[in-house]
Amino acid sequence: VKYVYSFGAGKADGDGSMKALLGGKGANLAEMSRIGLPVPPGFTITTEVCTFYYANKKSYPESLQKQMEAGVSAMEKIMDAKFGDAKGMPLLVAVRSGARDSMPGMMDTILNLGLNDQTVLSLAAATKNERFAWDCYRRFVQMYGDVVLGVQKTENEDHEPFEVAIETFKHEKYHKDIVDSDLTADDQKELVKRFKALVKQRTGKVFPNDPWDQLRGAAGAVFSSWMNDRAIVYRRKYNIPAEWGTAVNVQAMVYGNTGNDSGSGVAFTRNPANGVNEFYGEFLINAQGEDVVAGVRTPEPVIELKKAMPKSYAELLKVRSTLEKHFKDVQDVEFTIQQGKLFMLQTRNGKRTAAAALKFSMDMVKEKLIDQETAILRNPADQLEQLLAPDFDISEVKKAKELAKGLPAGPGAASGIIYLNANRAAAAAEAGETVLLVRNETSPEDLRGMIAAAGILTAKGGVSSHAALVARQMGKVCICGASAVEIDYDKKTVTIAGQVFKEGKDSLSIDGTAGTIYGGKIKTGPSSIVMGLLHGDKAAQGTEKFKSFKTLMDWCGKAARLDVRTNADNPEQTENAIAFGAVGIGLTRTEHMFFEGDRIDAVREMILADNVADREKALAKLLPYQREDFTGIFKALKGMPATIRLLDPPLHEFVPHEEAAQADLAKKIGVSADKVKSRVAALHEFNPMLGHRGCRLGIAYPEITAMQARAIFEAAADVAKAKIKVKPEVMVPLVGFKKELDLQVEIIHKVAKAVMAEKKIKFDYMVGTMIEVPRGALTADEIAHTAEFFSFGTNDLTQTALGISRDDMGSFLMPYTENEIFKKNPFATLDTVGVGQLIQTAITKGRSTRPDIKLGICGEHGGDPDSVKFCHQVGLSYVSCSPFRVPVARLAAAQAAI
Ligand code: ADP
Ligand code: MG
Ligand code: MG
Repeated sequence: VKYVYSFGAGKADGDGSMKALLGGKGANLAEMSRIGLPVPPGFTITTEVCTFYYANKKSYPESLQKQMEAGVSAMEKIMDAKFGDAKGMPLLVAVRSGARDSMPGMMDTILNLGLNDQTVLSLAAATKNERFAWDCYRRFVQMYGDVVLGVQKTENEDHEPFEVAIETFKHEKYHKDIVDSDLTADDQKELVKRFKALVKQRTGKVFPNDPWDQLRGAAGAVFSSWMNDRAIVYRRKYNIPAEWGTAVNVQAMVYGNTGNDSGSGVAFTRNPANGVNEFYGEFLINAQGEDVVAGVRTPEPVIELKKAMPKSYAELLKVRSTLEKHFKDVQDVEFTIQQGKLFMLQTRNGKRTAAAALKFSMDMVKEKLIDQETAILRNPADQLEQLLAPDFDISEVKKAKELAKGLPAGPGAASGIIYLNANRAAAAAEAGETVLLVRNETSPEDLRGMIAAAGILTAKGGVSSHAALVARQMGKVCICGASAVEIDYDKKTVTIAGQVFKEGKDSLSIDGTAGTIYGGKIKTGPSSIVMGLLHGDKAAQGTEKFKSFKTLMDWCGKAARLDVRTNADNPEQTENAIAFGAVGIGLTRTEHMFFEGDRIDAVREMILADNVADREKALAKLLPYQREDFTGIFKALKGMPATIRLLDPPLHEFVPHEEAAQADLAKKIGVSADKVKSRVAALHEFNPMLGHRGCRLGIAYPEITAMQARAIFEAAADVAKAKIKVKPEVMVPLVGFKKELDLQVEIIHKVAKAVMAEKKIKFDYMVGTMIEVPRGALTADEIAHTAEFFSFGTNDLTQTALGISRDDMGSFLMPYTENEIFKKNPFATLDTVGVGQLIQTAITKGRSTRPDIKLGICGEHGGDPDSVKFCHQVGLSYVSCSPFRVPVARLAAAQAAI
């Protein structure tokens, strides 16, 4: 078996496609070597050796030593130097770990391996630079002692033992602080001696003198580091399987620390923050690579190389363009210059912000480096919302103090004076203040305050809590579940990290993209994409960011098979969603309309009625409101379809629970306070999510269904008369039995017929159901006899399939995630394995009865990229999501189709 893959001198055994076997670093070193870039020669020990190592009690395959010897001798030929040579120039190597993806937590790189008491002398002689040779040796003993032999600070120590030894020496000899580069060759010699003594004292081991012992020791340390705690924790977090293993790269050393014609640096081929096509990076003169990132000396911008080393800079620019032409993506590189000669030590695809990703993809299509489909794939769907969000002023955020973190629930940045109550927040906003609503959690009663606030911060609740859901729907900045936020409603204060903030006086700033909470005010401004699309702002429409975004969305429209609809409850949300590219409404929650103005009183009157006649009287008051809403929505849709869900939530959500408010209400609607109180008590449920809601309301009170159907159809008739096409799709929620749907549909048809006769006009409509309880999914073949469409309500379907309340899961979400019971929060990303089966069963069964049945999804998952991919794969015709998620879903739908 081939365990060792060599590279160098324009050739390589492996190539860039072999990341699984060679690791990311090794594969790309091979690839760079193949395309003729100046890569110091070396070899990669494969990840299979790592697997072998763990399967065989930390031992190696027999043939490995022979193969490594062949690898070393190939390097020796190219470098014209011998490993362990005590006479001429010795070959020194770097030993570098390399998993498939770069992975913090893995072993640190060991440089200058191969030095010992003899080779240090030959290195000094060959380079005529004694100080350099002993500096390398000192660094090597330190790195090897730390990383391989484990000489590290103990719990009782504040500083690394080697650093302490250096400091002690400096003070003994110079009686003051001096920088390392001021140490003489003799000083370095003394330090090597002390370091070795330290190794002996701490480990009982003698520092290995034989280069081969050193090399085997270092390789073993790389493999061992695959199973260290840091690496395991990282793998768990990013779902990297332990079986992958790591490779080991052994590479000839090049020296950036030989003088002022040498140096080391890191660079991106383009600017990864804003996407500008400019060479971006930094370097240090006379330094080995680790110095650049160590932060001891401040590196200079890479452009300064142009002055310092013009020839190398020109060469580097050529490499930059070769790399981009070859990899067809922005690269993140490490390089070293030794006495004016450039060497490339690493390349990989550069990490980038959403803005940079967008600009890269557009520019590279123009440059004919990539095609449109690749450009679509280059924009991470889960990052796209960053582009729509208002931003903090970058320089200001640097000055701000981070207080705590919560769940990032609504991306963007918001800053404002805090209010702990929705009404007070709304009043302050009306008076012209920018406010932040801070609550333990929110409920529909807080809607007014949520609308008025620039951002919402809650101490409890998860990514599908009421606050998060509403924030996403409205495109509000939101952090939820920030447990470090302590709210005292009585004192009207918020305490975070020991700091107290007063309502109406103090400000907080929240970054809903990252979930970070800051004290005080930070300046923000709206995204040009939102300004251009939703507000028709001409200046914004002229910006490159806007144009690029629009182009990307056009390409997505062409590539996708799935339609994207929106969840919207009013004309404004509908218009916003259409501006973002939605082609209809997938879910209108009729009850959300109940909270506007004084409608709530009519709703409450309806709920408190204890006989049909009274209820119908109250419903009659609601009818014109609902009709007006639907008319507005139908007009905004201009002929696009709208799925309208009949009343869903438990009635008790609409009634006041405090005594004073109950008395108020009693007065308003002219009944006794006791009656209100007893009715509210009667509505109490132990488990409202599984209680009297959904179609169960319409079954118990058919007159509610009749009123809502009438409002929908009268609106449809009116709009149709105005020569605007309408396409209502009436949706019955929470159906588990065919009979439930039958009873409701009978009412709906009856009302439709009546309205058509009264208004003397015909219009098209459909009736269908939500599939959101397991029984509905399992009996979808029966239900499809009545239902003309299914919309998967995956919020409730997840809740009922898992038997987990989405409102109460916060208390155990953490241990569930840490133990990997959930890979991802199932209310944010569809559980395709479990809930997905219910969906697939429902699709198969539904189609067996009604082959052309229309299928969509309207849960929060409709805006989640992974879930959208699943929806594409199982053949839904559309996904529906909140307006500001529409672009994300369109991008994800296009990516799923490519
Ligand atoms: P990481 O994965 O942490 O970036 P690397 O293996 O890339 O670790 O090594 C870190 C640094 O060590 C590099 O940036 C480079 O400066 C230096 N280095 C690695 N290999 C060599 C080499 N062959 N010659 C000189 N310096 C090297
Ligand atoms: Mg490192
Ligand atoms: Mg590196």
